[in-house]
Amino acid sequence: MKHTGQILRIFLFFLCLPLFTAGCYSRTPPLPVPIPVELPSKKITPQPVPVIKHYTVGRSVEDRPIDCHIIGEGEDVTFILASIHGDEKAGVNLAVRLVQHLEKHYYLLKGRKVVIIPVANPDGRALQIRYNARGVDLNRNFTALNRINCSRFGMVEFSEPETRIIDWIIQEHSPDRIVSIHGPLACVDYDGPGRELAYRMADRCGLPVLKLGAKPGSFGSYAGETLGIPIITFELPGEADDQPREYVWELYRDALIEAVTYTPLRRKNYVRSGKDVLFRQADIRSPPVDGIQAGE
Ligand SMILES: [Zn+2]
Repeated sequence: MKHTGQILRIFLFFLCLPLFTAGCYSRTPPLPVPIPVELPSKKITPQPVPVIKHYTVGRSVEDRPIDCHIIGEGEDVTFILASIHGDEKAGVNLAVRLVQHLEKHYYLLKGRKVVIIPVANPDGRALQIRYNARGVDLNRNFTALNRINCSRFGMVEFSEPETRIIDWIIQEHSPDRIVSIHGPLACVDYDGPGRELAYRMADRCGLPVLKLGAKPGSFGSYAGETLGIPIITFELPGEADDQPREYVWELYRDALIEAVTYTPLRRKNYVRSGKDVLFRQADIRSPPVDGIQAGE
């Protein structure tokens, strides 16, 4: 009986052992306390927010809108316009395509602003004529020393709403350079201090630089000679009017981008005239071909 009691006590001891030891230890080891580690953060470069404005800047003789596109902001300003002659189609497509391209490739415009009027003469474009609705050649209606007052060029400078709008754009934005797209003379012409830019654009598209000669009261004479702004008359070849838009864009895109991103060479021997830099003859790598007298 004595042994039976001992066995019973031992049995009870082991039976109650879990009760005595409950809470004395954790069944699972404690999780390590996480130590905050500063991971190298992935560098996020903020994307520039494009400043884009599309608006109607004024209206033509027959009340058609003249649309203007402003892309980017900055001190460097390029003004590009097309179809001041209503029957020159290819330039319009090129200008519209340039607007789309710059919106997509906004990085090209750091510190730059581009002002684009794809159709400067909407009445002429609608009527498929060179002139505006009053029969005035808008590219002879500007102020210049060589100006001629007549019904075809306007009885007075800026007699037409279309040319007053162009002038307003110049006053408003003070462009550093201007490109006026024309056809069909297949060359890069310039007025005023636009020679270096003309050669750069010619390099990009294969058209020759030609001095077509100043036309009375032309936009080139006004901007280049009267105001001293480098201005390019970008004469597309005649066949561009009938070629597919994307094909023409591929041919002349780089020349327009060159104009937009152009930075004049800064050399020691230059003379400043307003905002422009005039270079010595010796700095120009090849002379222009003085040539054909035609009506850009
Ligand atoms: Zn023209």
